[in-house]
Amino acid sequence: MKIKENIAELNRRIEIAAEKTNRSRNEIKLIAVTKTHPLPKIEEALDCDLQFIGENKVQEAEEKIPKLQGKYEEFHFIGHLQSNKIKKLMPLKPSLIHSIDKFSTAKKLNNYIIKQQLPVQEILVQVNTSGEESKFGINPRDTEALIEKISQLSHLQIKGLMTIGLFTDDEKKIRKCFQILKEQFEKFKKMPWKNVQMKYLSMGMTNDFEIAIEEGANMIRVGTAIFGAREYRG
Ligand SMILES: *Cc1c(COP(=O)(O)O)cnc(C)c1O
Repeated sequence: MKIKENIAELNRRIEIAAEKTNRSRNEIKLIAVTKTHPLPKIEEALDCDLQFIGENKVQEAEEKIPKLQGKYEEFHFIGHLQSNKIKKLMPLKPSLIHSIDKFSTAKKLNNYIIKQQLPVQEILVQVNTSGEESKFGINPRDTEALIEKISQLSHLQIKGLMTIGLFTDDEKKIRKCFQILKEQFEKFKKMPWKNVQMKYLSMGMTNDFEIAIEEGANMIRVGTAIFGAREYRG
């Protein structure tokens, strides 16, 4: 295992990409995506000064996150959230849920928080910028209306936007996805909505984080470049 070297190399690449937009490494928040990776590998990464971890499945997070208590600073939920999993996710105290794309889920989450007397939950709205039908996320045409509606829910705070870039080798097409999200981000910054603060632009994974940073990402979600290929359980 060479997680330490991977992280050092990743930090260098983030720094170079950030410099292209006159930013520094510490203006980019790195979420280490730990899905499919076992606890010892995650602990090794956390020992190398990573503080933020992301999982995309509630069940897997339930198995792993409690065992990592005290070892990380923030747990981010980055996967699709089914409303029937809300009650399993919330005890894990996600610092940020990246993937709200439906009002019905937001409303159920808000109701759950009120009922359980939990603190206000920070969320991102996931936008489908690639047009791929298989991808979750709200159609960019409908983002504004969705945020407007969610902003009326008392116990959710919208902190920004998230997207997954098109899966392709065509850099132009990937860049386009990130440009769409950045454009919405800048537009929504100026809106007078309550409970909305456009702070985080979550975009960029192992294959495209440099492009995402160049297009303005300040939060990237990286798994493979840290941990190597994923270990799916058979
Ligand atoms: C798996 C995943 C990532 C990380 O992917 P890598 O290619 O391993 O860096 C980022 N975001 C989401 C939503 C994911 O599910």
